[in-house]
Amino acid sequence: MSNMQLDTLRRIVQEINASNGLHESLDIMVNQVSAAMDVDVCSIYLLDERNQCYVLMATKGLNSEAVGNISIPLSEGLVGLVGQREEIVNLENASEHERFAYFPETGEEIFNSFLGVPVMYRRKVMGVLVVQRKLKQDFSEAAESFLVTLCAQLSGVIAHAHAVGSTDVFRKVANTSNYKIFKGVAGSGGIALGRAIILYPPADLSAVPEREAEDISEELELLEQAVESVRNEIRSLDEKMQDSLMSEERALFSVFLRMLDENALPEEIQDEIRAGSWAQGAVKRVIDKHSALFAQMEDDYLRERVSDLKDLGRRILACLQEADSSHKELSSDSILVGDEISTAALVELPVDKIAAIVTSDGAANSHMVIVARALGIPTVVGVTELPVNTLDDVEMIIDAYQGKVIVNPPRRLRQRYKEIQKEEELIAKDLKLYETKDSITPDGVEVRLFVNTGLMIDVVRGVQRGAKGVGLYRSEIPFMLRDRFPGEEEQRAIYRQQLSHFANKPVIMRTLDIGADKELPYFSIHENNSALGWRGLRFTLDHPEIFSSQIRAMLKASIGLNNLHILLPMVTSVSEVEEVLYLLERDWLAVQEEEQVKINKPKIGIMVEVPSVIFQIHEFVELVDFFSVGSNDLIQYLLAVDRNNPHVSGVYSHYHPAVLKALTYLVNECHKYNKPISICGEMAGDPLSAILLMAMGFNTLSMSSSNILRVRKAICHTSMEDAEKLLKHVLTLNNPLLVKSWIEHYFRNNGLEDMVKTNRLLTN
Ligand code: PEP
Ligand code: MG
Repeated sequence: MSNMQLDTLRRIVQEINASNGLHESLDIMVNQVSAAMDVDVCSIYLLDERNQCYVLMATKGLNSEAVGNISIPLSEGLVGLVGQREEIVNLENASEHERFAYFPETGEEIFNSFLGVPVMYRRKVMGVLVVQRKLKQDFSEAAESFLVTLCAQLSGVIAHAHAVGSTDVFRKVANTSNYKIFKGVAGSGGIALGRAIILYPPADLSAVPEREAEDISEELELLEQAVESVRNEIRSLDEKMQDSLMSEERALFSVFLRMLDENALPEEIQDEIRAGSWAQGAVKRVIDKHSALFAQMEDDYLRERVSDLKDLGRRILACLQEADSSHKELSSDSILVGDEISTAALVELPVDKIAAIVTSDGAANSHMVIVARALGIPTVVGVTELPVNTLDDVEMIIDAYQGKVIVNPPRRLRQRYKEIQKEEELIAKDLKLYETKDSITPDGVEVRLFVNTGLMIDVVRGVQRGAKGVGLYRSEIPFMLRDRFPGEEEQRAIYRQQLSHFANKPVIMRTLDIGADKELPYFSIHENNSALGWRGLRFTLDHPEIFSSQIRAMLKASIGLNNLHILLPMVTSVSEVEEVLYLLERDWLAVQEEEQVKINKPKIGIMVEVPSVIFQIHEFVELVDFFSVGSNDLIQYLLAVDRNNPHVSGVYSHYHPAVLKALTYLVNECHKYNKPISICGEMAGDPLSAILLMAMGFNTLSMSSSNILRVRKAICHTSMEDAEKLLKHVLTLNNPLLVKSWIEHYFRNNGLEDMVKTNRLLTN
């Protein structure tokens, strides 16, 4: 593709991204494409799934009256052919083709050449883009690749619009008061009915939710104050830069001030407020509108002014947000909705008031989801099409078993889900019986169940649900709750709580595991490939001062309790463990010396997360006392699939035969050297896979407190003999879905049907 084409492409995409809604986007697309390619016709047909046809949504060149009125059945016409074949159709003379269908409303008969490109989104045809010329000549390869690239970039916009419902009512504006179901990934199971509260990042124009002004004059007042303080900000910047910038370089400041003149941007923003929007939303709209106009300009210099305009918008927004006292209080039916919600942001909220969480980003084993699961909050993530900023205060149902978000549910559905909630309560009551039972199979094999902790609530629930120890204490969680690295004494007190609640039972404390999606609010790490980057032990070995203060705090906390075990995250090589052992020995001696007491040396283990460890067990056994599989990360690295990326969440599966084979091998290796091996990834807390892990011979399964009772029930109902047979069989299967359904089948026939009841819900 030539530079010029690339430039055009970039401009079109920019303009579309700044446009208001689907119809405007499609109109921009057909106009721009027909100008850029110099064609006589450019049209877009979108798939109307309900009526099984393609509908003409926008055209440049055909009769505009036909828009919204031409429907082409899926198996008819050249448009239908492009959709059926899911590939480009490039014809010199369209009317000679056997699939040519003539629609008199369009005035199409005079166009000879035809190039149709499917608009594909996630393997699905969303529509067809067509260009036509009078001239009898097929289109060049460059034309084809231009359109393919454009369609690939725009399919997301169309998919999004589809999801919001704008194509349901062709040529009508999207209506969010419509009942709509969005599909995402089930994060933490459960059902919730409530209203959305949007959590959005500050000073980000694109994230501002649409909201009606509660009091128009108050919003106008807020705007005036914000604009005035931005004016002052710019004036003082200008003064400050007087000596360091030349006058023409400072010209931008006067441009900004002119834009802030009462009858320039502020007036437009005021108009939006008077039309009913709250001030923040009004700023966003006006800046978006101007950005779209700028983006269309031919002049490069002017086009680049978009970023200045957005900068100005962000400044106004930041002032408005600073003054915003309208933070909605959470109530017991609040459903948190955001593009991305970090663990730190979550745990800062009154978590007992959150009915459910929904995000457009993220995947089932994102860190935030793990914490939500521990807290028992129904969570759906990776809802890629969710129009987050239009959902403020909207009523919704979260079906976190099926990964569904039901917006503006009809009454009948609300009622049905309320009934399901009641059924849930009954199931929970039945599970409560397992709080005091032992985890013993019907043929007498005991499986140790430990709890994963981070917050105090995990400890309380773990004890209540009969956990025999802590299999993974995620020490990064208290780090996330602060605004700086906690000091040694502060840490000691926190660790002591964990250790003393489980006195006489093992507590496995993992050293700080930050990096990738585990961010500290006061120490951000920006990396392109963060899952493969500076994380876990790689980080702490580079910061021995942070590592040592943690180790020292753990050792001090264990005085007199002697139940501390230390676990190292993200180990890749033997040399890393050797380094740690050196630091540990040094700190252990020093702390005993300082405290004048004898401290039992803690047992040391490593997490098996990086696949390299699997092949070096025979070397690690020389250095450590135990192993713990971090299956969340191990799967991500074994299957090369980002555990946080919703686009590939279908590839991530703990039923993958390669995962099962690797784990079987790993357990055998550890047992060969008489070393205990446990597993603390989410896989251990899924009753279906827990049965397989028990059959493999894992010594301990460690899981979120919210899964302990379910797993215990599964163990109490599955003999080791059966589990071993199941494992033997599934190891012969080559497909994760087959593995899962094989175990589900067993559960259904063995009194465990409530654990596989995903199909009892209504929607699809
Ligand atoms: C894991 O990777 O399986 C694990 C337990 O660690 P985390 O989820 O905290 O990365
Ligand atoms: Mg991990």
